[in-house]
Amino acid sequence: MRNRHRKAGDELRVSVTRSDAAAADEFTVPRIRPMMVLDALLAIQRTHDPAIGFRYSCRVGMCGTCTVRVDGRSVLACQTEIPERAEHIRIDPLAGLPVVRDLVVDTAPFWQAWKSITPYLVPDEDAAGMDATPAVIKPDSAERERIDPSLDCIGCAACFSSCGIASARRDFIGPAALNRAMVLVADSRDTAAAHRLDVVATDSGVDRCHYIYGCSAACPKGLDPAQAIRRLRKWRFDESR
Ligand code: SF4
Repeated sequence: MRNRHRKAGDELRVSVTRSDAAAADEFTVPRIRPMMVLDALLAIQRTHDPAIGFRYSCRVGMCGTCTVRVDGRSVLACQTEIPERAEHIRIDPLAGLPVVRDLVVDTAPFWQAWKSITPYLVPDEDAAGMDATPAVIKPDSAERERIDPSLDCIGCAACFSSCGIASARRDFIGPAALNRAMVLVADSRDTAAAHRLDVVATDSGVDRCHYIYGCSAACPKGLDPAQAIRRLRKWRFDESR
């Protein structure tokens, strides 16, 4: 366990966007070191306002539920350390998703886009009998090298919030869903690649991307959705993967 310490008189000011204009939106909380953004929110909840709305679950960067914007950057609150010298931070809800309350957003549009690309493997039903040996992608294959770095999406929507097109709600499938589409199109065991490529070739698909790379910069799992979008653009016209 990390040794958390506090200097006497040490405090952090936190500004939080509230849904209720009459609710307090500036708080001062005791400083601990290290201090995650989630620690600051929990301190506000414990000592100032139990009604403040924010979401979290696993606290280890796996569930993807605590994503917020901190000083404009979309981050996981549980994994983002408040800089040593910071005396003030501002926390806003994710961009591009309807606010339910305070920092809690409705992620339905994000998951709707995810659903649109058929986000699961569609195996060849004829080849997969009860006795059939499951197909395996070899660990040292080019296919595995393409797929593995893009697999660990936790659905946190940091990329969606950081994408100027998706966050402006301009009818864009968005980086996470396109990254997932790339993973499945690259998988030789999948039989729905043609359908997915049709979906990503629509007006809401890959051509909406302007390659600002905000998605790749924001991803807390180190994924590169912009590269996935580049690949899908190519694969629309060229089936060699
Ligand atoms: Fe989050 Fe990265 Fe997945 Fe986007 S691609 S939802 S930033 S884990």
